[in-house]
Amino acid sequence: MVHAARTIRRAVVTGGAGFLGSHLCEHLLDRGVEVVCLDNFLTGSPENVVHLMEHPGFRLVRCDVTDFVHVPGDVDLVLHFASPASPLDYLRMPIETLKVGSLGTLHTLGLAHEKGARYVLASTSEVYGDPLVHPQPEEYWGNVNPVGPRGVYDEAKRFSEAMTTAYRTSKGTDTGIVRIFNTYGPRMRADDGRAIPAFVGQALAGRPLTVAGDGSQTRSICYVDDTVRGILALAFSDQPGPVNIGNPDELSMLRLAEWIRELTGSTSDVEFVDLPVDDPKVRRPDTRRAEELLGWRPTVPSEEGLRRTVDWFAARLQESATRVG
Ligand code: NAD
Repeated sequence: MVHAARTIRRAVVTGGAGFLGSHLCEHLLDRGVEVVCLDNFLTGSPENVVHLMEHPGFRLVRCDVTDFVHVPGDVDLVLHFASPASPLDYLRMPIETLKVGSLGTLHTLGLAHEKGARYVLASTSEVYGDPLVHPQPEEYWGNVNPVGPRGVYDEAKRFSEAMTTAYRTSKGTDTGIVRIFNTYGPRMRADDGRAIPAFVGQALAGRPLTVAGDGSQTRSICYVDDTVRGILALAFSDQPGPVNIGNPDELSMLRLAEWIRELTGSTSDVEFVDLPVDDPKVRRPDTRRAEELLGWRPTVPSEEGLRRTVDWFAARLQESATRVG
């Protein structure tokens, strides 16, 4: 059953200057929604939203949501997307990650409650940890090591889901939780350590593609436009979630590296490196809930999404070479 869309005139996007947040801001503006983007630029950059600065409906505010969150005027929707998201980032910034998942979630829920706004939490497939159930349905509770290095991110998100649920049940706040699986596309940072930007950067530079372990571990990769459509379908619905948003097409890391090598026309070698501690062996969303409740399913084939991403990174590389030259 797909619920009727609600009217949203003004939205707050935390982490709006990041990869996913900047695409969300763009899609919301396209739908005629005013956007207030809150970001402290910890892992994001104003460059990601520079093309929106002239838009009359867009406002960028530098703000650390772990301190406090104050937004004057009406707000119909709060999307809490602020958080380091790549393993490299959250391993480098464990306390910041735990703070934005806990204090940041508390403050943004407070804002939504005060304004009577819909609230959407960006949760993650990482709440399933190294899953013992495959593919992962929303009913699965996960297999997370709280004191392992990845625990800072996984547990922050698990806490933020619990806090969001508590606001819904005890204060009646209109909340929704979206569990996002690996998403890729333009505006990922080349140096954020995630597999796709790493492989693309290495292939374009003619360096070896570094594959962790033997490369047999799997991920399911979803193109950013599909993910954003899914997130907004939940935002405009009255569903509480959690709802998995991801592409069920699963592929091994070695296959992904080889695919990117083909798409870039690179002759780089593949180099095998150590597998990170607690690295999930498999990852694939069960997307039946998203299909039934939101009428959502991914539509961009991986080959097309990867091609667009490769083209974007190649164009950026070309631009910076021209600037230097
Ligand atoms: P990102 O690092 O590109 O964006 C995160 C943004 O949050 C950055 O702009 C950063 O500066 C900002 N931020 C961090 N701490 C902040 C704070 N205290 N106050 C204000 N702003 C702060 O990461 P992303 O990939 O765009 O991820 C966005 C959200 O989606 C995260 O919550 C992440 O956990 C979630 N998510 C992403 C993916 C994915 O594949 N990209 C998958 C699952 C979940």
